[in-house]
Amino acid sequence: MSSILIIEDEEKISRFVELELQHEGYGTGKAADGRSGLEAALNGSYDLVILDIMLPELSGIEVLRRLRKESSVPVILLTARDSVTDKVTGLDMGANDYITKPFAIEELLARIRVILRNAEAQSAGSGADEKADSALLTSPCGIEMNTDSHAVHYKGRAVELTNREFILLRILMENRGVAMTRERLLSEAWGYDYYGETNIIDVYVRYIRQKTADDVIRTIRGVGYMME
Ligand code: CA
Repeated sequence: MSSILIIEDEEKISRFVELELQHEGYGTGKAADGRSGLEAALNGSYDLVILDIMLPELSGIEVLRRLRKESSVPVILLTARDSVTDKVTGLDMGANDYITKPFAIEELLARIRVILRNAEAQSAGSGADEKADSALLTSPCGIEMNTDSHAVHYKGRAVELTNREFILLRILMENRGVAMTRERLLSEAWGYDYYGETNIIDVYVRYIRQKTADDVIRTIRGVGYMME
């Protein structure tokens, strides 16, 4: 059975999550500050880490940054309700998902199941078939994207995109001429629902526009976004 590390300084929350996870049959470990949490995540043989952002010693973001230098263990961040910046930073730094406090335990358990299932599928080698139809995607607005090398050019100029920005832009390119709702973009780009927190998409669209041009992605009022 999978084993899960909980890094959370609020004893009430971590104890509650621990009991629920054990009830579901998971093995568990706990750490109450960033430093010991990072150590446990690096040295323990955990299949997944639940990581609070506001932690003593080292922040959750800093734990994640250091963890990702050595480990690709799946991470779910616990974030404060209104901190879009934390979420975006966390995802860019390699968090697999986040959940906003206060959360329903069923929601956390559902996220955990999705991530563990994906991790299993990946280690079973199902990624091989993705490579077959790699291609150069182009759009009339001047974007050129190599889905193999992840190189992106705008009007001949190289554009540095983060992994999340790349995925979002790729989905828009693959659906050119289709007005995409934020919900659909979220689920196609990230693979799961963010339960209505679609303002994340607006943040990423803004980043992509800043790195290319405003007219690269069209805003469709009342719907979402589209590439011509
Ligand atoms: Ca905390």
